Amino acid sequence: MRFIILTLFPEAFQSYFNISLIKRALAKKLIKIELKNLRDWGEGAHNSVDDRPYGGGVGMVFRVDIMAKALKTIKSKFKNQNSKIILLTPQGKPFNQKIAQRLIQYKTLILICGRYEGFDERIRDLVDEEISLGDFVLTGGEIPAMAVLDTVARLVPGVVGKFESTVNESFSENLPTGQAGLLEYPQYTRPENFRGKKVPKILLSGNHGKVSEWRKTEALTRTKKRRPDLLKNRG
Ligand code: SAM
Repeated sequence: MRFIILTLFPEAFQSYFNISLIKRALAKKLIKIELKNLRDWGEGAHNSVDDRPYGGGVGMVFRVDIMAKALKTIKSKFKNQNSKIILLTPQGKPFNQKIAQRLIQYKTLILICGRYEGFDERIRDLVDEEISLGDFVLTGGEIPAMAVLDTVARLVPGVVGKFESTVNESFSENLPTGQAGLLEYPQYTRPENFRGKKVPKILLSGNHGKVSEWRKTEALTRTKKRRPDLLKNRG
């Protein structure tokens, strides 16, 4: 799977992509990441990509003609491929695991990171989907792009060591227990007893059936308590 990130700050991504799972996935060629600097399509002495908003107001807005040029060049390289252009914006659909699971069907994802005051409204017509990281405003789309890339990449088979560990997680849609979209059950490791707080006995019993039942119940209890909205959304 290929990710193309269109940004004014390609350097912001280097250290994150150079560690852990993403680094390994890149080395194994399970994923490919291309960082594109929007300024390469900019105009004038300073390669400008933005301008003042019509009607006044503070800040600068990304120009639609510059974005169209950039996307035309990027898209020309994979004309017939299964691809999707995503605009990162606080006004988009709130990102979640379900969206990530839908996005892994694409061969190429193009993630557009905004800055400053955001985008000329007509840029929305050039993209397939708008995604938000949540109801808050960040300085730029780089962190949302990393979040989307990271979440989708770890669903690509082989990226996470034991594939099971992505199906058993919180929000996962394919839990073998049939408990789609719940929070994960509580996990414990050594020591067995920490300041009087003991690991539940059932987890030490070696009885896989009982452990599995316990986890199912705990996942449901925890979800009811912490995120009852997830249960409502399941209908
Ligand atoms: N003026 C814009 C508005 O009110 O919608 C916010 C602009 S924000 C300062 C600059 C850029 O950061 C946005 O264009 C977007 O790419 C990115 N951004 C900020 N918050 C985001 C969020 N919650 N989700 C996705 N992208 C976000």
